[in-house]
Amino acid sequence: MAAVIPDLKKFRRVVVKVGSSLLVDSQAGTLHAEWLSALVDDLSDFKKRGASILVVTSGAIALGRTVLKLPKGELQLEESQAAAAVGQIALARIWAESLAKIGLTAGQVLLTLGDTEERRRYLNARETIGKLIELGAVPVINENDTVATNEIRYGDNDRLAARVATMASADLLILLSDIDGLYSAPPGTNKDAKLIPVVSRITYEIEAMAGDAGSELSRGGMKTKIEAGKIATSAGTHMVIASGRKLHPLRAIEKNAPCTWFLTPASPVTARKKWIAGALEAKGIIHIDAGAVAALRSGKSLLPAGVVKIEGLFARGDAVIVRGPDGGEIARGIVAYDRDDALKIIGKNSKRIEGILGYAGRSEMIHRDDLAMAGE
Ligand code: GLU
Repeated sequence: MAAVIPDLKKFRRVVVKVGSSLLVDSQAGTLHAEWLSALVDDLSDFKKRGASILVVTSGAIALGRTVLKLPKGELQLEESQAAAAVGQIALARIWAESLAKIGLTAGQVLLTLGDTEERRRYLNARETIGKLIELGAVPVINENDTVATNEIRYGDNDRLAARVATMASADLLILLSDIDGLYSAPPGTNKDAKLIPVVSRITYEIEAMAGDAGSELSRGGMKTKIEAGKIATSAGTHMVIASGRKLHPLRAIEKNAPCTWFLTPASPVTARKKWIAGALEAKGIIHIDAGAVAALRSGKSLLPAGVVKIEGLFARGDAVIVRGPDGGEIARGIVAYDRDDALKIIGKNSKRIEGILGYAGRSEMIHRDDLAMAGE
């Protein structure tokens, strides 16, 4: 059965990743302003359809290295960090001004590997990004290159964009690149190479096709794009790799320009819940009363009022097991409070949280988005 290529108009939350070589002229170190303005026009189509947009943008190092007159070629880590420190200011302003032209407010978010891989920091970053979207702003995201050292860096924005897409429960990730998709063999060296329009599953054969399509400015080649595809599709996000070399690259995808779609079998919510249910090690147990069991089973969040006892030394953002009055496992979830704070508010009405803890925490002990019911 031939896979159906999704319609761009259907997506509700879209992450667009822009590579350095598209945004910045590698020789002059200047912005491709006409290209960016055409891209922003395309983004306004999404906005008009009521979709939320997130931008993951490279270009800080490429912009900053010219200003600092750093040599061409591979930079030392400290040089990249310095270049990013200078270039990120310009990059953020470029996006803020460009998005303002279509009536959108940009919010800069700089992330490192730890912000997406450690659960507590993941939750924090997710809340900030979620809030920006809720308030109608566009998160403009890059790696925090100035503080990222080799051990704690993504190093390429393809995988960062995929993590952001799964974190924001986006339904689509668009990787705009200097190549129009995945080829059966490296197209530069093999004239029989064919573009693969749809990848329904990332098999060993697909990975072997990746080769290397890196350029001097951007770190990501096809390999990191396939890695991004794995992250995105296993968490319920479709991904498309398309060429950004022409003006209006998103409209081109809509008009069936050559590109490669990586399709996900899962929907964002079930994938996230699968992640909660399967991938995390539980740090504690939360015992709840019969009323809370019924509430959870009807799709509600777990409030402190329904908790009767807690066990274990968990911190905010840890995975916990939720048990009912008979000790049976009802659900697993990500808890919103550290053990000590949780102890103080169990059995209490959520309105009293601020009074008891001295800060306005979440009203839920575990939000329903962070709960995976047993047997689901
Ligand atoms: N974060 C880097 C920058 O903004 C780019 C990384 C990449 O191109 O993948 O310059």
